[in-house]
Amino acid sequence: MDFTETDELLMLREAVAKVAGGFGHEYWLRASREDRRPTELWRAIGELGFIGVNLSEEHGGGGQGLTELAVVAEELAAAGCPLLLLVVSPAIVGSVIDRFGTDDQRARWLPGVASGESIVAFAITEPDAGSNSHQLSTSAVRDGDEYRLNGTKYYISGVDEADAILVVAKTGVDEATGRGRLSLFVVPTDAAGLTADLLPVEITAPEKQFTVFFDDVRVPRANLIGTEGDGLRHLFFGLNPERIMSAATSAGIARYALTKAADYARERRVWGVPIGTHQGIAHPLAESKIDAELAKLMLQKACWRYDQGHDAGEAANIAKYANAEASLRALDQAIQTHGGNGLATEYGLATMWGFTRLLRTAPVSREMILNFVGQHSLGLPKSY
Ligand SMILES: Cc1cc2nc3c(=O)[nH]c(=O)nc-3n(C[C@H](O)[C@H](O)[C@H](O)COP(=O)(O)OP(=O)(O)OC[C@H]3O[C@@H](n4cnc5c(N)ncnc54)[C@H](O)[C@@H]3O)c2cc1C
Repeated sequence: MDFTETDELLMLREAVAKVAGGFGHEYWLRASREDRRPTELWRAIGELGFIGVNLSEEHGGGGQGLTELAVVAEELAAAGCPLLLLVVSPAIVGSVIDRFGTDDQRARWLPGVASGESIVAFAITEPDAGSNSHQLSTSAVRDGDEYRLNGTKYYISGVDEADAILVVAKTGVDEATGRGRLSLFVVPTDAAGLTADLLPVEITAPEKQFTVFFDDVRVPRANLIGTEGDGLRHLFFGLNPERIMSAATSAGIARYALTKAADYARERRVWGVPIGTHQGIAHPLAESKIDAELAKLMLQKACWRYDQGHDAGEAANIAKYANAEASLRALDQAIQTHGGNGLATEYGLATMWGFTRLLRTAPVSREMILNFVGQHSLGLPKSY
């Protein structure tokens, strides 16, 4: 067992940190508040090969693993620039197309996703079927060489930035279980019949959320990824990367918050000594540091298991849960450490709250992870 990171990984960390540090939290905040995209940052990391570092070299990727992509996500967040679409485009969508796409599909979509020139969003959530994907009602009906899609998805991130969306749709019903048979389609965002309405949320993030309507949207059969009806199984290949990337983003946020908090606690004096002298300030920060380090170990385990081809489900779920909780605690304590300044825009902490809180709920909620661990790790009966 070796806990040291390779020289290559350390170099990647440094390189991402340098680029992200050049942009910094103020850039990220401006992009979020001024309602514009973080294009310059996205382009900068794309040009250096960071976005597609996990995708196959043959299709423009870096030929590395999720370990490397997680480092990219962590370092961006640690610099105050977490990017939601990094969880979506190269991690969920890229992994699924790389694994289950045909040669043509990989050649069509992966080079753009890898370079960042093209973004592919991901749509599973529906108004009447959130955590329960068996209830999805968006349908895809075969019609000659095409499928016709009808239905509504919501909370879909980055549709305005995306060239296409990987859509999870129902193509039939399993007679034995009565559950929907799901399939995956890449749907161009300019397809006739596809419309998207902005869904306002109280989160500071450069990515916007959308309700997406599919009104008899026709997609060629060539846009079906993998086998019809086997979408849920294919999707599992993308969901562990999703959980791992979300965990890595949270890990970066925890570092960002604790670094700021410790710097401030060393400098700020109100009783003649730095406030970090007081255990009321030092101990909660130390506890947060312990939480964050433990959570990160599980993140590294999840990355390792995924990249080695082992089942990463349990580790990815635990890592997602632990890092989301650790980052919230770290950020909250960093805000507390800063007193009133913790809530000032200038200190860049309260500005991260919505994003950090989001990662407790999405891409998979805390409760669904507890369900997973209860059922799969502890062998408890399924409650739903
Ligand atoms: C900013 C943002 C961005 C998002 N981006 C995307 C995206 O790009 N693509 C996409 O497809 N989706 C996206 N989502 C959706 C997100 O993945 C869902 O909101 C999340 O999975 C929870 O689903 P839900 O909102 O339908 O909650 P529901 O399923 O309605 O659940 C509501 C509450 O009940 C709990 N609950 C539900 N079932 C159980 C159970 N069996 N046991 C215990 N508790 C339960 C949940 O944990 C939750 O706390 C995004 C959401 C947000 C807010």
